[in-house]
Amino acid sequence: MKRIARKLGWRIYHFVHTNGPVADFVYWGAFYVQNFLRARQYKKYSKQHVTPEELFAHRQLSSEAYLVTGVTNICNAKCTFCAYPKVVANKTLETGVMSFDVFKKAVDEWAKLGGQSLDLTPVVGDPLVDPNLLQKVDYAVNKAGLKDVYLTTNAILINKNDTYKKLIDLGIAAVFISTQGASKEVYEKIYGVNHYDAAMSGIRNLMEYNRSKGEPARIVVRFRNHEKPSQIIRSPDFKKNIQPYLSERVRVNYTVDFDNWGGTIKPEDMTGNMRLRVLPPLLDVPCKNLFNFAVRHDGRVRLCGCRLTTNDNDDLVVGNIKDKTLEEISKGDEAWGIIKGFYEGKRPHTCLECTFYQPINEKWFKERAANSH
Ligand code: SF4
Ligand code: SF4
Repeated sequence: MKRIARKLGWRIYHFVHTNGPVADFVYWGAFYVQNFLRARQYKKYSKQHVTPEELFAHRQLSSEAYLVTGVTNICNAKCTFCAYPKVVANKTLETGVMSFDVFKKAVDEWAKLGGQSLDLTPVVGDPLVDPNLLQKVDYAVNKAGLKDVYLTTNAILINKNDTYKKLIDLGIAAVFISTQGASKEVYEKIYGVNHYDAAMSGIRNLMEYNRSKGEPARIVVRFRNHEKPSQIIRSPDFKKNIQPYLSERVRVNYTVDFDNWGGTIKPEDMTGNMRLRVLPPLLDVPCKNLFNFAVRHDGRVRLCGCRLTTNDNDDLVVGNIKDKTLEEISKGDEAWGIIKGFYEGKRPHTCLECTFYQPINEKWFKERAANSH
């Protein structure tokens, strides 16, 4: 029964994502449905508080969460919807590549805590820029034994040295591709670089090789689209290089709305079909993303691995794994000070205007409390 429901779900998903007018309608409508549901949920959450006293005992890194080891914050693209080109132009981002020692320490501690899910994607930057990425994937999957190691890449470097083959052969659980669409001209305008052909052939090679090995990895191509989904779906490159490889484990999706990177991305940065996400009501309740710890390339540990405004070495940093363990940092006064601050209306700079804000709620808390025993 479960299998039939799964197959049916996949067929519906596939139909929506490969049928232009249907995809346009669904993604257009999703923006309004999402905003309506979010406003309703947040109204409810504002009335049912998880108190700081309840939260305190469950504040630390738990094995059910996921850890981010951002292997490098250097990128080879300049996307118009991302803070990266702005923080590079303003010279506020301190860039670097994670040493193997820092990575190993984070992974060993994580494995010891029982963690399984490891994301190698930095807040900004492309993991494939790290020249030692494959050594790190090998260590996390085959030495530390983590079951769910994955990354998000723009795929520009995925053909280089057969990286697409090696990622699959090393046992990566999932590869998420973030790309523009299936038009070279639009890609160059939105991604700000002329690597369309490299990225498109890399995506195809990855999907083809993964299929030849029996689809060991999940692959999702996430279009950060300026064009409507229908324009991508009817393009020759989509039909030739992507559609033939789609399956239950290999999927595409389009972008409903774009995040504002704590206010760094403005409405005028949105072009074509792009829409900026509406700023949700900012409640005096901590954000769920504060509980996903991220290790920066230099060992600094930051709450929230997903957004920055000017720098990832900011007031969300709560320690350094060169000095303390991840567990100690997650239980430390600095981390708790930030989390508790939300209850008092105090937020780190990046959180002040963040459209990614997701308040914790009772359901989230019950699951967290159940998993931390
Ligand atoms: S969205 Fe990703 S690929 Fe584009 S500039 Fe930002 S970090 Fe780089
Ligand atoms: S409000 Fe935004 S920046 Fe702050 S923790 Fe949540 S997602 Fe991260």
